[in-house]
Amino acid sequence: MRLDHWLQAARRQVDALDARRLVEHVTGLTHAELICRPETWLTPAQQTRLAALVARRAAGEPLAYLLGSAGFRGHTLRVSPAVLVPRPETEELVDLALDTLRALGAATPHVLDLGTGSGAIAISLALEYPGAQVSAVDISPAALAVAEANGAALAAPVRWRQSDWFTALTAERFHLIVANPPYIDAHDPHLDGDGLRFEPRLALTDEADGLAAIRHIVAAAPAHLEPGGWLLFEHGWQQGPASRNLLRATGFQGVQTWQDLAGHERISGGYLPLAP
Ligand code: GLN
Repeated sequence: MRLDHWLQAARRQVDALDARRLVEHVTGLTHAELICRPETWLTPAQQTRLAALVARRAAGEPLAYLLGSAGFRGHTLRVSPAVLVPRPETEELVDLALDTLRALGAATPHVLDLGTGSGAIAISLALEYPGAQVSAVDISPAALAVAEANGAALAAPVRWRQSDWFTALTAERFHLIVANPPYIDAHDPHLDGDGLRFEPRLALTDEADGLAAIRHIVAAAPAHLEPGGWLLFEHGWQQGPASRNLLRATGFQGVQTWQDLAGHERISGGYLPLAP
């Protein structure tokens, strides 16, 4: 079958951009080559592979799992179903973290990424803030293997450790702790919907009200922060007030929430007092 005819047919089942990305993936052709050579003939093997991928995409599987990679802040990360697909709102968490590091002004700040998944946040910070001493933890060995491979492929100097939140971390104190924790309520029907049902449940929900991981992180963070150190974490659009309350009740200062590009409260944080 000709490539342009195949694309026309695929667009009836999946998004046009997704169809194009899948054909690029299977043929190895670039977008420009697809445009210049629409009459290229797909081999039977390519057609079989593409048909399977289109069917999986049409059934709701995230494109990133089908391609095996996802873009995040211009970095290409390997992803597998062991890790959450990196999201645009998490790119904003990295922007805030970079702003915070610049404001702190330390040349070699110690940074911790909790529940790193694909390593997206930790790798971005290590690459975009030269001098940052970045550590990243995840409870899942399978996720950590993906993160480590990404760190090596992108030459990002990150220290990876398997840990259930802070448990494997001992004396080290950080200038900044960041996290994109599981924050979806266990009863939220979206967990069974397209996309999310293919992602690791461990990365999406705390199996409680969606605030259990956040409560734990906020409560435990002060023991792992330098005086004046910051905690920044991503949360659900309706969890801003609860996040701010938790931070304030734990003694954090400068507590605030930032909106994502869709205008939803998405990231909250604060810093520890300089002197107790
Ligand atoms: N942002 C994700 C979503 O709502 C959830 C990620 C998370 O729980 N950390 O699809």
